[in-house]
Amino acid sequence: MNIRTRFAPSPTGYLHLGNIWVAFLNWLWTRQHKGKIVLRIEDIDETRCHKNYISFIKNDLEWLGIDWDEEPGTCYFYGEPLQSKRIPIYEEIKQRWQHSGEIYPCFCSRTRLHQISSAPHKGETITYYDGHCRYLSQEEQKALTKKPSWRLKVENTSIEFNDLFHHLQSKNLEREKDDFAIFRADGAVAYQLATATDDGAMKITHVFRGSDLLPSTFYQIYILKKLNYTVPVYGHLPLLVDKDGIRLSKRQKGLTIQELKQNHISPEQIIGQLLYWAGAISHLEPISAQKACNEISFNECKNLNHMTISI
Ligand code: GLU
Ligand code: ZN
Repeated sequence: MNIRTRFAPSPTGYLHLGNIWVAFLNWLWTRQHKGKIVLRIEDIDETRCHKNYISFIKNDLEWLGIDWDEEPGTCYFYGEPLQSKRIPIYEEIKQRWQHSGEIYPCFCSRTRLHQISSAPHKGETITYYDGHCRYLSQEEQKALTKKPSWRLKVENTSIEFNDLFHHLQSKNLEREKDDFAIFRADGAVAYQLATATDDGAMKITHVFRGSDLLPSTFYQIYILKKLNYTVPVYGHLPLLVDKDGIRLSKRQKGLTIQELKQNHISPEQIIGQLLYWAGAISHLEPISAQKACNEISFNECKNLNHMTISI
């Protein structure tokens, strides 16, 4: 099997310890399995992403000794791993599903969506729908002026996957309730469609990412199957959280690689810290990424079956 993984940052800021945690563990696993790594830049949200961050992302990874095999700027069998360049691919899928009637425009306001979503838990990214716009007639649709989002008509299905760290995960996707947006009202492609399509097209065999994205995986598998792609193996890594349980990405001050660098922290200290949190070493000590790869087996990272790790 040709093992292929990806590290898929959004260029919304400097890389912080939480991003590097995922990037490093993905790299360690992939290199020890002789696989290839795609550096995929997920820059579809124009309001939050900035091109300038891409070079910082690459520099920080290089500085840490984390390398990759495919990157934006080169065309591969699937095109370029830069999502803003892949918009025609997502648009083509949208048009296909429009014609076949598998998606429908949703004109609901944010307020309405908020009211119907069944009390989303704190930090939960999935909200439920009630199918309201699924049944609008063409006349009713024409009378509406708001720019719609586009929802996939989900049919009742049970989705299961065996997570590398969390065993069997399963969820029943329900018609209407789980009809989810594949394009947003502002015209941008939704994360679920872009990521699932890219993982499929890029022949990604193993996906490593934070456990906050575990609920999204059911929807992404639904899309991958619909597009006849092979579903990758998923490994959801514990989220690094601070003493108050707040994830690092929310409170990055002082924890970006840029800041650590400025404070004369070495790459070896950072990698040592990551391995310590992962449970691969029992005493904190500096170690280079390459040395870690040669000497410490990924299987020694015994803390990865947690949902969070408090640092
Ligand atoms: N671009 C996403 C992020 O920065 C990662 C998506 C994924 O790994 O599936 O959080
Ligand atoms: Zn609607």
